[in-house]
Amino acid sequence: MSFISGYKEDREKRGCDFAFLFGNGELLVSANGVPSVAEAEVLLASFGGGACQTESGRSLQGGVYLGMIGRRSCYAYRLPEGGKGGCDNLSKAGCASPAGIKPADGQQFVTLRRYLTELDEDICAAACLAAHIVHWNDKTHFCGRCGTEFSWHGRERAKHCRTCGNVEFPRISPAIIIRIIKDGKLLLAHNRSFPEGRYSLLAGFIEMGETIEEAAAREVKEEAGIEIENIRYLASQCWPFPDSLMIGLTADYKSGELVPDGEEIVHADWYAPDSFPSIPGQGTIARKIIDRYTTEYYS
Ligand SMILES: [Zn+2]
Repeated sequence: MSFISGYKEDREKRGCDFAFLFGNGELLVSANGVPSVAEAEVLLASFGGGACQTESGRSLQGGVYLGMIGRRSCYAYRLPEGGKGGCDNLSKAGCASPAGIKPADGQQFVTLRRYLTELDEDICAAACLAAHIVHWNDKTHFCGRCGTEFSWHGRERAKHCRTCGNVEFPRISPAIIIRIIKDGKLLLAHNRSFPEGRYSLLAGFIEMGETIEEAAAREVKEEAGIEIENIRYLASQCWPFPDSLMIGLTADYKSGELVPDGEEIVHADWYAPDSFPSIPGQGTIARKIIDRYTTEYYS
């Protein structure tokens, strides 16, 4: 079984299909993992069913098709939120406040980022796409060119404006994450935003006009003060927090003194596996790259 992404449904939605339902940014899971459409619809019913659905998919209560896992279709749903930024039909009948969210017994809302390692690979891929679409949908209800409410595009995973013809595709923000090796040791850094004691690889967003390699060299120079060489691709990972694609690289230390920028990076050093500080958990590309380094250099 594997997840096959798609935007065109080729059959009717069924109760046993997968429902990736987000409420307040968190994913609904049941004791068996991701719930079925039938299970999710029980919860959705308390929010007035499709009463909040608008042309642009304001609340995604009808579900957006994501693709297939085996013979089961996958849909992204989002509960409406009350107040600012939430469902714009709250004053109409049928919409409820998120304060009233009450999952059924055995169901709970979890933070997808922390739950990744609990999911199998196919479910994880669909969940990441669902999270990305829910986030993108929340930000694209109106045409940025003329202000008309967007409609879902019929032939692409996109939205379009019926007034001016503008087409808006989901935004993907590419970022690099890089392992740098010097004399067999790995550069690990503590970012101000990390939990206390946590170290990881250097990472940063690619800016307009940059190649992947240029972005890597710039980020490393800015954050750690050193020059690198032999930049090569290793792996990538969809990272919908909120809309990134992580591009994993490897490089060798070239020159310069290791000096953390003091803003994002507060400490950095060269480590061998037997002296690693706390590193990211399984399921993250950072961990996969660090583990690969350990295997390549120390086994
Ligand atoms: Zn327009």
